[in-house]
Amino acid sequence: MAVNFKLIGTTLVLAVGAFIGRGWRKEKVSAMGLSAKDIVIDKDTYSGVIIGGGPAGLTSAIYLAQAQYKPLLVEGKTPGGALTQSHAVHNWPGEKNISGAKLMEQIRDHALHTGAKIESEEVVSVDFSAWPYKLTVKSILSGKERGIKALACIVATGSIPNFLGVPGERGDDGYFGRGVSTCAVCDGIFYRGKIVAIVGGGDSAIVEAGYLSSLAKEVHILVRKEAFRAANGVKDRVLTLPNVKVHFNTEVQEIVGDGKKVTHAKIVNNKTNEESDLPIDGLFLAIGSHPNTAFFAGQIECDQNGYIILKKDQQTSKDGVFAAGDVADPIYKQAITSAGDGCRAALQAMEFLQKVGFVQEKGNLVPEDEKTIKAEDKTETVIVNPPVAEKKIPQEEPEQKLVMAKDTDGTVITISSSDQLEKALKESGRPAVVDFYATWCMPCKMMHPIYEALAKTFS
Ligand code: NDP
Repeated sequence: MAVNFKLIGTTLVLAVGAFIGRGWRKEKVSAMGLSAKDIVIDKDTYSGVIIGGGPAGLTSAIYLAQAQYKPLLVEGKTPGGALTQSHAVHNWPGEKNISGAKLMEQIRDHALHTGAKIESEEVVSVDFSAWPYKLTVKSILSGKERGIKALACIVATGSIPNFLGVPGERGDDGYFGRGVSTCAVCDGIFYRGKIVAIVGGGDSAIVEAGYLSSLAKEVHILVRKEAFRAANGVKDRVLTLPNVKVHFNTEVQEIVGDGKKVTHAKIVNNKTNEESDLPIDGLFLAIGSHPNTAFFAGQIECDQNGYIILKKDQQTSKDGVFAAGDVADPIYKQAITSAGDGCRAALQAMEFLQKVGFVQEKGNLVPEDEKTIKAEDKTETVIVNPPVAEKKIPQEEPEQKLVMAKDTDGTVITISSSDQLEKALKESGRPAVVDFYATWCMPCKMMHPIYEALAKTFS
């Protein structure tokens, strides 16, 4: 009897234990053990922080902002992302032919219009070990770091261009930035009338060859296989251009120069093993990219190639952390699929925020008016648009915006005609920093705050 009682007792204890265990776990799963009620939501806490300003991140921002979540998008060093480097995009629905920079500018404007806050900052570290998640972000302009917190986080950091890893490419003796480039749209203009080579057989190589053919005297496409991987519709047209020449089964062994600039590439035919020198002025790399996930190391699960592993739709291994675009997509890597991911990630983030009991009105004590923040921070430049009245320079082209940035040292002015430039220089009476950029060139626009900072530093 005694034994029986003991057995019954043990069974009861186990059964109750199992019930409690299941009940506790169920609670954890349904609400993830996280509650917005338990945390302090201050001005540095955002309901949703999106890392990355490409098609994925911006689409997430549009969806979250439209649903009144007031997300913060940290756009990093390349506003608009890698697509801004694409000269021509032919497969964005509704746009037959649009430059990547223009497309991304439109999407970015759309995100701003919906109320998303976009900061010219980059994320330097994340801590997903405790919730709300902690991120350290650094201002691209001033280099100043600050800490922010996120209830939900969308990682849309895209990918980083691949390099060949051959001598003469990078490093102290390499020619990166002096003839070797990963961006035809950014650097192509330096090769007007010159000879260039593009390495790669994908869509990027084709699109870049098309762009460079209108500038360079000769464009050599070096493809390591005997066929293109590119599926782009413009391939046939590009390959019939008189100044475009394709070298199949060809690999670059070394990039050689005179110490200042590239003079030729040592190439080899991998079928015949025949080696030769190809005289060139510039070499463009279009050999794909790898996911930009290094700074998440150990925090969310990634595969052996660094791509974020998705559990369900855009959900990562961490509750409330979602990934969208190239960073979690080793296969499709299209702007439109990235945007689709961004949409899904935002919808999942909203679901997560509802589950943890986040109420929109409670979050983001971030002033609506960006000027309020800037004015508080005396060291930052205040961007005023339309221009400050007393410094106004008449605009000759009414469609161009004149942006003036005023700080305590003086005024930095965007000039849109040579007359304005001459007048401003004559009147300034001191050294001037002049930043030239084309409205379609996103990388050039990125330089604007850097020039502002330089002008300010050197008065
Ligand atoms: P891809 O990965 O599609 O192509 C990379 C190319 O570089 C391949 O031909 C590959 O060769 C070659 N390559 C890789 N490593 C080396 C190496 N070490 N040496 C020599 N060659 C190498 O990259 P893309 O940047 O072209 O395209 C990325 C994605 O973006 C794709 O999905 C593409 O469709 C899309 N895209 C779309 C555009 C559009 O307008 N629709 C424009 C640009 C990109 P191999 O084939 O032998 O592996």
